[in-house]
Amino acid sequence: KRNVLIIGAGGVAQVVAHKCAQNNDVLGDLHIASRTRAKCDAIIASVHEKGAMKQAGVFESHDLDAMDSAAVAAMIGKTGAQIVINVGSPFVNMTVLEACIQTGAAYIDTAIHEDPRKICETPPWYGNYEWKRRDACAAAGVTAILGAGFDPGMVNAFARFAVDEFMDDVTSIDIVDINAGNHGRYFSTNFDPEINFREFTGTVYSWQKGAWQENKMFEIGREWDLPVVGKQKAYMSGHDEVHSLAANYPQADIRFWMGFGDHYINVFTVLQNLGLLSEQPVTTAEGLEVVPLKLVKAVLPDPSSLAPDYTGKTCIGDLVKGTKNGEEVEVFVYNIADHKDAYTEVGSQGISYTAGVPPVAMAMLIADGTYDLGRMVNVEELDPKPLFTLLDRIGLPTRVQDAAGDRAWDQA
Ligand code: NDP
Repeated sequence: KRNVLIIGAGGVAQVVAHKCAQNNDVLGDLHIASRTRAKCDAIIASVHEKGAMKQAGVFESHDLDAMDSAAVAAMIGKTGAQIVINVGSPFVNMTVLEACIQTGAAYIDTAIHEDPRKICETPPWYGNYEWKRRDACAAAGVTAILGAGFDPGMVNAFARFAVDEFMDDVTSIDIVDINAGNHGRYFSTNFDPEINFREFTGTVYSWQKGAWQENKMFEIGREWDLPVVGKQKAYMSGHDEVHSLAANYPQADIRFWMGFGDHYINVFTVLQNLGLLSEQPVTTAEGLEVVPLKLVKAVLPDPSSLAPDYTGKTCIGDLVKGTKNGEEVEVFVYNIADHKDAYTEVGSQGISYTAGVPPVAMAMLIADGTYDLGRMVNVEELDPKPLFTLLDRIGLPTRVQDAAGDRAWDQA
């Protein structure tokens, strides 16, 4: 059993908290710490409302500024946490990781570190912050699993599985993320608008022909025909996992595709062209200083408020191509998640659900020793099978589609 400290109390943390509670026989005492303690308390209350705790145990809330590494280290000490699941904003990643290195606690996150002052980092993004701490993790024997949500996260495991099981050589990995759900609002992002828009305002980096390629957002789109969600248009976007997969499979072309409807693109384009997605403050005629992006965030729906009305499904997977015995092969490894099922189970929408369940699976696999490797890894460096087996059981089953048909991953 290992005690867990969850950092952050947003949409993903809600799912992490419920899943930790459902598995507290493996995980031990649970703690959640964030900037706004009331949100931690509301999450704990929802866990108790659903009767989610598998067995009687500790679940406590705490105030924490995760930008303060010493405060994080003190919180780890106070709570006796052996595993930290960091689902706070990506601005806090390095301070939390430093605290884990200092205290010896295992570290799990779901997004690449971002500097709030920079819109776009140079690739490979992990090389700018996380991988600089690799030696320090190894020296301290600290397990750090980076990007352990769905994408990044499960899609990295899907790539590893496809390459290991189906091919001798890999030539391309296309990650496709389709949310075919409907939230019924005029416009909303599915998670923090500030983080969400940052993903689409910078350069789109892909790894093709052994080099980084640059495009603009919405410049390259194509239609996909996917299981359950059918024909969907997706656009090449920059994404964390392209950066680690490019380092681990440099011989393959690696691209990330995100599904967008025309309405989303229209609204986004207007906001961007008007300058309303800018992080540079402007001064109004009345002398008020306003950051346009912060204002847009303030008027948009809170992403967690979408959950009760959200219907439909998500399909996120990897189309992996390569060769086997000299023949060309391709396989699509994927998961289907349902917004309503997520809400019924943990009170969240499907996007938060797919992001929040995998880091809990990672924590359980650290707790039982399977993934407790005492060093820093990206998800594709781990054996995917224990992860798939566990996720089949706790809510995100993996499927495979290829020339031989559509089936569960372990029937492949
Ligand atoms: P939210 O914005 O809903 O929540 C972030 C939480 O972090 C908030 O509770 C916020 O506090 C807290 N926080 C921010 N700064 C600090 C700080 N300095 N100290 C303590 N707490 C702080 O985000 P989400 O739940 O949607 O996302 C969480 C993470 O998951 C993000 O890194 C996101 O990029 C990632 N993600 C990953 C996905 C994947 O599949 N890999 C998919 C979706 C998200 P407050 O409540 O006060 O604002």
